[in-house]
Amino acid sequence: MDQDGRKHPVGGVDYPRTLQEFHGWFPSEAACIKYLQRIRWPDGFRCPRCGGASAWRTVRGQFRCATCQRQTSPTAGTIFEGTRKPLRTWFLAMWYITSQKQGVSALGLQRILGLGSYQTAWAWLHKLRRAMVRPGRDRLDGEVEVDEMYVGGAETHVVGRKTITKSIVAVAVEIRGRASGRIRMRRVDDLSRDSLLPFVKASVCPGAVVHTDGWAGYGGMDKLGYDHRPTNLSASGDPAHVVMPRVHRVASLLDRWWLGTHQGAISPKHLDYYLDEYIFRYNRRRSRARGMLFYRLLQQAIRVDPAPYRHLVGGKTHPDPNR
Ligand SMILES: [Zn+2]
Repeated sequence: MDQDGRKHPVGGVDYPRTLQEFHGWFPSEAACIKYLQRIRWPDGFRCPRCGGASAWRTVRGQFRCATCQRQTSPTAGTIFEGTRKPLRTWFLAMWYITSQKQGVSALGLQRILGLGSYQTAWAWLHKLRRAMVRPGRDRLDGEVEVDEMYVGGAETHVVGRKTITKSIVAVAVEIRGRASGRIRMRRVDDLSRDSLLPFVKASVCPGAVVHTDGWAGYGGMDKLGYDHRPTNLSASGDPAHVVMPRVHRVASLLDRWWLGTHQGAISPKHLDYYLDEYIFRYNRRRSRARGMLFYRLLQQAIRVDPAPYRHLVGGKTHPDPNR
C-alpha cells in the first residue's frame, strides 16, 4: 500500500481494496470524516444554503459558513445524519455489505459489528439499501429478455399466473451473447398491461429488442418504440426456461439469495429495497475490486436523503418510477 498516495491519490484508486487496506485507510473516526468530506465536497467545502466556499471549523467538528453563518456537517442531509454511532462503524458496515458476495442479513451484521440491537442493524441495512438505487440510472439497451417471477410467501405450488401470497416481480435482463448483461427488477401489482408496460418503459431504452412470452400484458410495446419479439410458448413447445434462459437464471439466483442470506424472511412491503440491493450486487458482479462497490455505495449514501426509522418500517418512499 502506498502510504502517501492513499491520502491524495493521483490517478490511482480512491478506495481501499482489501480489509487490511480498509483498516489502513480508516484507522480513526477523524480519518472517516475526512474521507467523507472529500467525497462530498471534492472541490472543497460548499455551503448547502448559500453556496459559499469558505467556512470555519467549530469546536464540535461542524462547518460554519463564513458568508451566511449556517452550520453544517459532512453528514448533514445524508443517510448518516443524526447517527449516534461512529462513522467508522458505518464504514465497516458498508465494507461488509459490499465485500460479501451474498451480502449480510441484519442478524449477521449485528454480530459482525457487535451492535447492541438487532433493530439498529436492520435499520442500517435498510438505509443503505436506499443508497443502492442510483437516481436517473441508465436503462437497459440492445437486446433484452423480460419476464416475471414470483417470490416470497409460503405457496409451494403456483399454477400459471395465479398467485395469492407471493409477490410478482418483473425482471429485465440484457442479452450479451450467451451471457447476461445488466438487470432491472421491480415488484408489480399484477400482470396487466398497466403494470408491465410502465416497468418496461422505466427499465429499457426505446429502440431495444425486447423478448417476452406471448402474454397479452406485454402487448402494445411496439407503439412505445420497442422492437417487440414475443414467443408463443405453447406454440414453440419449449418450456419458459429455454425461451428466457437469462431471466430464469436471475430468478433462481435471486431465490437462492433470498432463501440463503435472508432465510426467506422478506416482507412484501420491503421487497423493492431488497431487489435494489440485489440489482446493485448483480450489475457489479464482475467488478474485481470489491472496494469499488464500497466506494460507489458511499458516494450514493451521501446523495440520499436521511430516511427516518418510521419510513423504514413502513417500507415507504421507494423511488419507484412505476408508481
Ligand atoms: Zn452559507
